[in-house]
Amino acid sequence: MATTKNRIHMICGFCGCKDEFMYQVKPEGACNNDGIEYPEVYILCYNCTSSTALSEVITRHPKDSTVPTIKDS
Ligand SMILES: [Zn+2]
Repeated sequence: MATTKNRIHMICGFCGCKDEFMYQVKPEGACNNDGIEYPEVYILCYNCTSSTALSEVITRHPKDSTVPTIKDS
């Protein structure tokens, strides 16, 4: 799946796998400090079955705060 032309490379922190990932977007995935839900992207490693929320490793873009939340809709 990964090629040498990718600008971002990923390695699973649990098993060291680098090419068996999938992602999943969950609309109700996480809550901010105010308890408001927002969508979250989960990276799934199919080698060791671990799941990592993207916000655990990358800061959310500030413009994402304008996206309507589940509670707002
Ligand atoms: Zn893994």
